[in-house]
Amino acid sequence: MAVGTERAAASADDVWVPRPWVVRSATREIGDTVTLEIEPRDASAARPVAPGQFMMLYIFGVGEVPISVSGTGPTSGLLHTVRDVGAVTHALCNLGVGDVLGARGPFGSAWPIDEHKGCDVVIAAGGIGLAPLRPVVRHVLERRGEYDDVVVLYGSRQPDQLLYTPEFERWRAAGIQVEVTVDHADQTWDGHIGVVPTLVRHARFQVDEAAAFLCGPEVMMRFMAQELVDRGVVPERIHLSLERNMKCAVGMCGRCQLGPEFLCLDGPVFPWTRVERLMAVPEL
Ligand SMILES: Cc1cc2nc3c(=O)[nH]c(=O)nc-3n(C[C@H](O)[C@H](O)[C@H](O)COP(=O)(O)OP(=O)(O)OC[C@H]3O[C@@H](n4cnc5c(N)ncnc54)[C@H](O)[C@@H]3O)c2cc1C
Repeated sequence: MAVGTERAAASADDVWVPRPWVVRSATREIGDTVTLEIEPRDASAARPVAPGQFMMLYIFGVGEVPISVSGTGPTSGLLHTVRDVGAVTHALCNLGVGDVLGARGPFGSAWPIDEHKGCDVVIAAGGIGLAPLRPVVRHVLERRGEYDDVVVLYGSRQPDQLLYTPEFERWRAAGIQVEVTVDHADQTWDGHIGVVPTLVRHARFQVDEAAAFLCGPEVMMRFMAQELVDRGVVPERIHLSLERNMKCAVGMCGRCQLGPEFLCLDGPVFPWTRVERLMAVPEL
């Protein structure tokens, strides 16, 4: 099952009915976060997925939650990196190889990476926000010659909450600048300290040629987008992924409606210019 850049939509048959998917691997990334590789039990349920899209993952008898695709796994199943924050994500984080869960999708908009071929690329993430952006990093890694300077700016609260650290050296070896920061350092840490937008001053890219992809807490994305605009990045070239509580994923229930936008259908990936004012609306 490829994670390609063409946006895929679930067909009418798929949208409401979770299909059985099987866990092929479960890897604990950090204390509260697990990456699952899942494959459909019936191969006909597989759909192409674009970076930025999400699936609705369902634990029988517990509930269903939206989880972004964080890559393609070794057996070409879909990867989902899940942080344990409540009932459903706790059950997902405790699945083991061979367990069956329900899944429907993919849903939502994709990162418009192909539109920015030939540009410098700034990828900025906070915490679990690196999960939906990892397919963007992998995309530019596989097509390194098609993009100019690529910078990953990433931060978490503490060093032991950083995701995917074993991959950073491979990204750097491919010429990607990776800058990492933490809000609170411990004795193991000799890197940057501070919030993610403070990393922009260390980033090497041409502001007038750059496209930016942001995912993380809304406050981080707001400050990062503003910092990039202040430095001269074209606002229309800044894209971000919004997360609000979501139920149906098909634009029917209105749970994730933000002004005129349905995050599940029109997003979760939006240009900054389309959601800047809407992001001032607090989640109820
Ligand atoms: C498009 C999209 C993609 C997402 N991708 C990922 C991902 O890749 N990995 C991941 O770990 N999580 C992701 N999330 C968040 C995930 O859906 C929530 O953590 C999950 O719904 C919480 O459900 P729960 O039953 O475990 O916890 P609950 O008991 O329902 O909630 C626990 C806490 O999480 C908060 N919460 C509930 N739903 C959401 C939500 N949709 N977004 C943010 N916080 C929420 C609640 O307000 C509460 O504070 C994504 C959300 C969206 C909308």
